Amino acid sequence: MGEQTTPIKRFVIVGGGTAGWIAATTLGRIFQHSDVSIELVESEQVGVIGVGEATVPLFVDFLRRSGIDEADFIRRTQATFKWGIEFVDWRRQGESYLHTFGDIGRSIDGHDFYQIWLKARAQGDPTPLLDHSPEAVLASQNKFYLPFKAAGTPLANVRYALHLDATLVSRYLSEYAQSLGVKRTVGHVQEVQKNDAGYIQSLRLEGGQRIEGEFFIDCSGFQGLLIEQSLNAGYESWSRYLPCDRAVTVPSAKAAVTTAHTIATARAAGWSWRIPLQQRHGNGYVYASKFIGDEQAARELLASLDTEPLAEPRVIPFTSGIRRKVWDKNCLALGLAQGFLEPLESTAIHLVSKSLAHFIRFFPGTDCSERLQREFNRRLYQDYCEIRDFLVLHYCTTERSDTPFWRACQQMEMPDSLADKLSLFREQGNLLPGVEDFFQPSSWQMVLTGMGVMPAHYNRTVDALDYSALARSLAAGKEAIGKAAAMQPSHDEFINTYCKAELRE
Ligand code: FAD
Repeated sequence: MGEQTTPIKRFVIVGGGTAGWIAATTLGRIFQHSDVSIELVESEQVGVIGVGEATVPLFVDFLRRSGIDEADFIRRTQATFKWGIEFVDWRRQGESYLHTFGDIGRSIDGHDFYQIWLKARAQGDPTPLLDHSPEAVLASQNKFYLPFKAAGTPLANVRYALHLDATLVSRYLSEYAQSLGVKRTVGHVQEVQKNDAGYIQSLRLEGGQRIEGEFFIDCSGFQGLLIEQSLNAGYESWSRYLPCDRAVTVPSAKAAVTTAHTIATARAAGWSWRIPLQQRHGNGYVYASKFIGDEQAARELLASLDTEPLAEPRVIPFTSGIRRKVWDKNCLALGLAQGFLEPLESTAIHLVSKSLAHFIRFFPGTDCSERLQREFNRRLYQDYCEIRDFLVLHYCTTERSDTPFWRACQQMEMPDSLADKLSLFREQGNLLPGVEDFFQPSSWQMVLTGMGVMPAHYNRTVDALDYSALARSLAAGKEAIGKAAAMQPSHDEFINTYCKAELRE
């Protein structure tokens, strides 16, 4: 047995954006019936970033784990449902593909479905891979339903996420976390006070109030008020792999039909998103300032909108990368204070929950064991690298050479881990999934197929299967998905009957 460490009794969270309130909800739920206190301080002078509107299915899991009623949450955050992302013009202009959640097809006699599909393709079967993904078929028909209502059909295990209004999410979680006993303090942190060992002891607010704590969670946004400005954690930039460094955003009016997926369109010097909410759209253009100026980017974004803009465009600079130490001493950084990966696959909010899951697994006492910190930091770094590689994949496989940006993407330096993965895949479609990878093989297969990257041949063990039986099974699987999807309500019909948003005053 190691030395006993004293349990932490007092957590202080700085920042009331999505990251701060997810942390408050998670810890509030765990310590709801204990003597551990959680206080969140947020400034009225510094607003929340107000973007971050697309999620992944694990966000729905977070709501459930937290005891939040999903329909109530959707109504109050203007949320819509999301089967995945449609990537437009990434491989070549005029081409698009879907990256949806969930598995593709089913294995047959232990053979991986992707290998079976490759074999069928080699035999001349033209069926697209995505015809075997229930989420992709539902997305292409713009249908939605809840998977538990489709028990016994091929749609029973589909995975969905939400599009949501980021500001309303903070508001919702703020109320919910406070109902769990989290204390909210409005105040602007002016000074971070440390002891001789460099541990944070207290925060001094404007007006003189002091807030003491044993463990501090920095959710103060890009500036990293605690982790960087006080503890000087340092930042590892990945701009050599991900050259986009700015986004311009603008909301626009709602369209007649609400799509059940995000649209990510490749543009002259980056890409733009279109996220449907119940009463408006969120839009943004992520671009590389080396190739386009702010005004030109804003003009391109406005010209691309399919409905009228509802505000002036807003520019947000960023640098892709991660703090060198995300957990240092008695401070953990979350959200924008922790790092940034462009929102191409909507992973930032997920990384907040993932960080908290690691933190709970390696939960410290007041001594904040360095061994626990190291293991936490190592794992989170791996999570970031895995997502970074998946993002780079979208750029480095492009065939576009129509603008300097896309030509540069073709020449760009690639992380060794990605180069290794791609070379293995190109032989016979194998991937290297890690134990805790977020993007499973089906995600890589969808993006690689969409970008036209195919293995040289399939795994020859599939030849042991009787091909005519295999072909019948593929056709039957595809037909069953198509039939089940066609019976579901449209996305708008579903929202209107199940979780229509309350009108804003
Ligand atoms: P913020 O929202 O910036 O909150 C900072 C908080 O700190 C505020 O409450 C502020 O009051 C407080 N604060 C600051 N200084 C002080 C002080 N001195 N004293 C007290 N309080 C202080 N994520 C996704 O998952 N999906 C997406 O589609 C997505 N799209 C994005 C698009 C863009 C362009 C950007 C930039 C980010 C996107 N993200 C996305 C990321 C997402 O927005 C953030 O991860 C998420 O909103 C968390 O923000 P935050 O809470 O860390 O910071």
